[in-house]
Amino acid sequence: MKVEDLRVRIAGKSIVDGVDLLARQGEVLALVGPNGAGKSTLLAAVAGDLPYRGSVLIDGREPSSYPAVELARLRSVLPQHTTLSFPFRVREIVEMGRAPWAGTAEEKHDEDVIRDSMERAGVVEFADRRFPSLSGGERARVSLARVLAQRTPLLLLDEPTAALDLKHQELVLAVARRRAAEGCAVVVVLHDLGLAAAHADQAVVLREGRVAASGRPVEVFTPELLSEVYEHPVDVIPHPETGVPLVVPARAV
Ligand code: ADP
Ligand code: MG
Repeated sequence: MKVEDLRVRIAGKSIVDGVDLLARQGEVLALVGPNGAGKSTLLAAVAGDLPYRGSVLIDGREPSSYPAVELARLRSVLPQHTTLSFPFRVREIVEMGRAPWAGTAEEKHDEDVIRDSMERAGVVEFADRRFPSLSGGERARVSLARVLAQRTPLLLLDEPTAALDLKHQELVLAVARRRAAEGCAVVVVLHDLGLAAAHADQAVVLREGRVAASGRPVEVFTPELLSEVYEHPVDVIPHPETGVPLVVPARAV
């Protein structure tokens, strides 16, 4: 997926202002930045869910040029906030991810893909539970399982780890890595910069709708840049064994 000079205005205000982005197959791209930087807006525009100016190419074409069902076979979206008004069972929600493939040759894999997606997201044990009865973190993983079941070559995940404990944060990033290894392009919005540094191939730092920096996390996540962008002093410490940057807010002793 290739994004050039993307601009989104909402209610007369510029929210995304000239963003370039390249999400390559086989890679995880972490989109980070302060609250209100425009990450969710950017993702929604890229997904084809919001009007924009500039260029977004998914498989060489603008999202709006695809019939809805075709677009749904190309890109899946895990929104930051999901609202579900009907108390579906977990399994039914994951099954919804297969809807774009109904009537195609892929349909015969539905059962396998649904089971595999629930296993990857760690939700098999909730399969028969109703969604509203789940905890926030469990719901987040069910939504991820639905996205995985869609089996698209582009995944757009907006803060998939926000409600998750440490183990499940790692699980979700491992799932993202695995999809990338299987040939997908994965864009994931993260707040935990350490998590991004450990798992992402590329990082894009967004600030006030613009790209403040982009590149490999180890290059991008400098104390200078992060302190400036987050308007708070930040320490970046290489992990003693792996060298992966550990990012922590500087604190008074
Ligand atoms: P992020 O995901 O980086 O936290 P968002 O993309 O959700 O940021 O929002 C970026 C900015 O755009 C925020 O200031 C937000 O208040 C504003 N914004 C987003 N959607 C709307 C909307 N529908 N109407 C007005 N302002 C909006
Ligand atoms: Mg957001």
